[in-house]
Amino acid sequence: MSRSQWPAEQRQARSRAVQHIVNSPLIRGSLVVMARSCGKEGCHCRQGEKHVSLYLAVRLGGRRRMIYVPSAMEAAVRGWVANAQEVDRLLDFVSQQCLAEFLHQKEEKLGRSSAAGVRKGRPRRKPP
Ligand SMILES: [Zn+2]
Repeated sequence: MSRSQWPAEQRQARSRAVQHIVNSPLIRGSLVVMARSCGKEGCHCRQGEKHVSLYLAVRLGGRRRMIYVPSAMEAAVRGWVANAQEVDRLLDFVSQQCLAEFLHQKEEKLGRSSAAGVRKGRPRRKPP
């Protein structure tokens, strides 16, 4: 399957993914709003009006971390996270199409239903 043979919607998805990667910062993670008490004597959080802050949940050095996002950077970080999510969505679309193509080619080679070789369940090995 060569470049020009890819269906139009897959070509678009590939090229949009590239544009997102080339043109904008991206961070794979998710944004979480957390409410907490600071513990200070006489603070309004003691009366239940907790401090609400935005955190970025990410993998950092192989570990899950929650990183505080200052409000001045909130818009930027939201954009970076949204960008990564869009790239993931586009890659998943391309991957699903390639998978369908693999099953189709396999069916042609083996001459029987490709469903016969599909097993339910997750692979044992984790992706890198
Ligand atoms: Zn407080």
